[in-house]
Amino acid sequence: MAEAGTVEEDDLTVHELRDGKPLCGEAGMVHEWLRAVNCGKCLTARSEKAPRRRERPWRNPAVEDLPPRDS
Ligand SMILES: [Zn+2]
Repeated sequence: MAEAGTVEEDDLTVHELRDGKPLCGEAGMVHEWLRAVNCGKCLTARSEKAPRRRERPWRNPAVEDLPPRDS
């Protein structure tokens, strides 16, 4: 599960936490929250470090394995 938190008094910017620290490198006292991450830098860093599978073209084997419907 993703961890999220705010830094210092800025409780509007929710950072992604790794080992209790903001992924974007923001420094300061971290307050952990169960909130959606909205820090753009953290979201960018997350997608760069953990590429999603959706980079591959989406494929549905169940559909592609259907016999041709030409009869
Ligand atoms: Zn951040």
